[in-house]
Amino acid sequence: MTFDPATEIQNFLAFGEFGDVNPSICDSSTYTFMSVARMEEVFEHEIEGCFLYSRHWNPTNKALSTALARMEAGESALVMASGMAAISSSFLQLCSSGDEIVSSRTVYGGTYALLANLLPRFGITTRFVDLSDEQAVRAAMTPRTRILYCESVSNPLLEVADIPALSSLAKEHGARVVVDNTFSPLILSPLRLGADVVMHSMTKFINGTSDCVAGCVVSSNDFIASLNDINSGPSMLLGPVLDSIRAAGILKNLHSLHVRMARHSANALYLAGQFQNAGLTVHYPGLTSHPQHELMSRLMNRGFGFGGIVAVDVGDKATADSLMTRMQEEKIGYLAVSLGYFKTLFSAPGHSTSSEIPPEERHRMGMGDGLIRFSVGLDNDMERTWGTVNSLLQELGISGGHSGSTKGRGVRGHGAG
Ligand SMILES: *Cc1c(COP(=O)(O)O)cnc(C)c1O
Repeated sequence: MTFDPATEIQNFLAFGEFGDVNPSICDSSTYTFMSVARMEEVFEHEIEGCFLYSRHWNPTNKALSTALARMEAGESALVMASGMAAISSSFLQLCSSGDEIVSSRTVYGGTYALLANLLPRFGITTRFVDLSDEQAVRAAMTPRTRILYCESVSNPLLEVADIPALSSLAKEHGARVVVDNTFSPLILSPLRLGADVVMHSMTKFINGTSDCVAGCVVSSNDFIASLNDINSGPSMLLGPVLDSIRAAGILKNLHSLHVRMARHSANALYLAGQFQNAGLTVHYPGLTSHPQHELMSRLMNRGFGFGGIVAVDVGDKATADSLMTRMQEEKIGYLAVSLGYFKTLFSAPGHSTSSEIPPEERHRMGMGDGLIRFSVGLDNDMERTWGTVNSLLQELGISGGHSGSTKGRGVRGHGAG
């Protein structure tokens, strides 16, 4: 029964043209044929090993897609030029004008903007709900609901979705469960937990080197074929093609993902524990204080930890700004958006990656102005890193005392819970 996504990737061997250990990069947009008849045949039907034009399919992208399908235990996958391309193409494939989406209210800012602002122009509307409130989710579903959407571990508050429960609820209503698994590759396997479609921003952990933007969708053969249908597929017709040189780079990095995730997670767990001991409000699913710690422990694959993202509330915006500036000066990492890099990245979600979400909505979901999101790097000596961060907390007079924390010392009043 146990599924090991890392072994699935390890067992994926894609031989190059000359037996090269890394599959040859296909450096062509178009492909020749020995006969007109064969060209017509390939245009009409997908034929294994035959390619026509690189927006349709490309051998390098195919190799990466196959590895990703194995990793996510799906039948097929399709790589694209960004995570947003993967998300928007999937929504457009599943919904038509008049259809509805029920989405978690804590989603990536770009996804929120797509659902709240762009899709309504095409008659597709979204209700945002607190996914941990089953009654609220039920109440939001209607006969026109096509998608129940969530992030497996949400950005930036790290709420963990109960994918098995959501999928049985969605099935009752004839909706599909679509999951963004960007924060927890290898750790969670949404398709095995009952989801219908899973996507990633490969820009983040999967690639892990912050040198390109890319995305993917993993699902059934039918769904992937529909995304790429030459007459009606959103991916085919909107055209977010991943460049093959980038696909080759991502495939190489995919083979070290298990080592990286385990280390990101170990470092993040340590840092989260230290912040909690310092009395600060910390969001990290690996801490027993996290509301979905038990749930995540039950759903996760073993060996990759609880993920590399930690969110910490330091009280207010000015304090968060000072701490982030000082951390960059002291070489803790970079003040930058995005995540999954080998160095630590930090940013204040309320004023960057979640700024698309209106302030009242952000505060309602507990995303205070003093919240800092850390994408914890692969530091070899995390105690030393914490030593530096801790001395900066002292320097700036940051200490805990927030509701819910156990070891509060001085109080810096702020409302976010
Ligand atoms: C970054 C991110 C996206 C968007 O991905 P891009 O590759 O930037 O298009 C979507 N979802 C989550 C959770 C993200 O972190």
